[in-house]
Amino acid sequence: MLIPAIALANIPVKNTPIPGGIAVIDFETNHANPKAFYNKVPLYVQHIKDQHYQVLVGIPLMEKLGKKTIKVQDFSTRLFDFEVTEQSYSEQHITLKGKKKKYVNPNLAHMDRIKSERPVLSSARKIFSDNALSNGLFTRPVDGVTTSPFGLKRFYNGEARRPHTGLDYAGNIGTPIKAPADGKVVLVGKFFFNGNAVFLDHGQGLISVYIHMNDYLVKQGQFIKQGDTIGTIGQTGRSTGPHLHWGIYLNQTAIDPSLLLGESK
Ligand SMILES: [Zn+2]
Repeated sequence: MLIPAIALANIPVKNTPIPGGIAVIDFETNHANPKAFYNKVPLYVQHIKDQHYQVLVGIPLMEKLGKKTIKVQDFSTRLFDFEVTEQSYSEQHITLKGKKKKYVNPNLAHMDRIKSERPVLSSARKIFSDNALSNGLFTRPVDGVTTSPFGLKRFYNGEARRPHTGLDYAGNIGTPIKAPADGKVVLVGKFFFNGNAVFLDHGQGLISVYIHMNDYLVKQGQFIKQGDTIGTIGQTGRSTGPHLHWGIYLNQTAIDPSLLLGESK
């Protein structure tokens, strides 16, 4: 089944130009298909009304503060500036015991597996479909409480690791996970750190990921609607207990998923 692209898709996110946030930049054009780029990476462009367009720029957690520039391409090339402002994220210390210790310092066999999985995961995060596949704000994938917010500076058994690039919801094993927006399943698989994972493409470089799942209930290439069950909560991969790790990538950049729910910082 082929789902047509949405003509006037619009995700009404708030301008949040912080590391891990979304800068919203408005512009006008008569061009039917304007494009925008940040550091050469294509950006999410939405048509608001008439000549009014809007660019959504995902800002890396490690981005330096200060003035940044995007390029808009219509009949010519124009530059638009925005300012990245400070956001402090707290620290989180996690202890992995017994069998789970392999996730702190993986052995050689695990390292080979990690290396072979890396390009698969990274190309799924880099998918850019020309058309938006969803419309409107996202809905929560599960009802559980948030156990780890986005952006935490993480330490595993005392060792600094990458910050938390998603949002964790607690839940019992087997709890259904619902698609927060329409999209296409672009990756389904079992991975070392992520465990059982599903990646959804919402178009124009907006990708959502669901990891540590117990089970996945969708197939690669399948189109799904907002609210469809895509899998269940589990504790596979580098996980200390059953929960859903929900990640959002915009222009290949992990951003705070709560911004797409319309929740403000
Ligand atoms: Zn997480």
